[in-house]
Amino acid sequence: YLFGKMKATDVAHIVWKHVIQKGDTVVDATCGNGFDTLAMLKLAADDSHKGFVYAMDIQKDALDKTLSFLEETLNPTEKELITLFNICHSKMEEVVPSNAPVRLVAFNLGYLPGGDKEIITRSETTLLALEAAKRILIPGGLISIVVYVGHPGGWEELEVVEAFAAGLSVKNWICCKLQMLNRPCAPIPIFLFKR
Ligand code: SAM
Repeated sequence: YLFGKMKATDVAHIVWKHVIQKGDTVVDATCGNGFDTLAMLKLAADDSHKGFVYAMDIQKDALDKTLSFLEETLNPTEKELITLFNICHSKMEEVVPSNAPVRLVAFNLGYLPGGDKEIITRSETTLLALEAAKRILIPGGLISIVVYVGHPGGWEELEVVEAFAAGLSVKNWICCKLQMLNRPCAPIPIFLFKR
């Protein structure tokens, strides 16, 4: 991506690495195949720190894929730190404990790679989920969003995400996006840092 090799999600993972601390609580708002969920757990937990990952997806298929991927990859102690929910991310506050110090809420929008391309994130619920993420995030936390524009509704969803970010106060938020100028349809990582 940046150097011809990295993908947008790799860029997001690099940024997460600078934000997540061991023992943190983090939220995967679109767990899909489980790759982001695994990356988050590895950053939030180790042998001496229990971090917690709350991961969700609207599709049962995606949760099954995440579960079998995590079962192949993680030991039972690590697996216990991840909780999966079959819900819309706009309802994240119903499953993430209200006293949890959430340092990251990550969205990887669009459809499930290798799955049903008709089931995509939608602007209206994405916006509600961003508002929920804003409420549960601790100071010093990050809302990370990878936006895809190559499918119908993708550009509109980007506009909604950008308008949400542009409306956040300068005093409390630093908001940026990373767009490839010579590949306008490449996925776009957007980072909203809460001061
Ligand atoms: N993060 C995933 C990974 O590492 O494999 C990839 C996510 S994929 C690009 C987008 C996912 O968002 C799909 O699995 C889709 O089912 C899910 N999704 C769509 N609408 C959603 C919603 N309203 N709430 C939660 N997940 C949703």
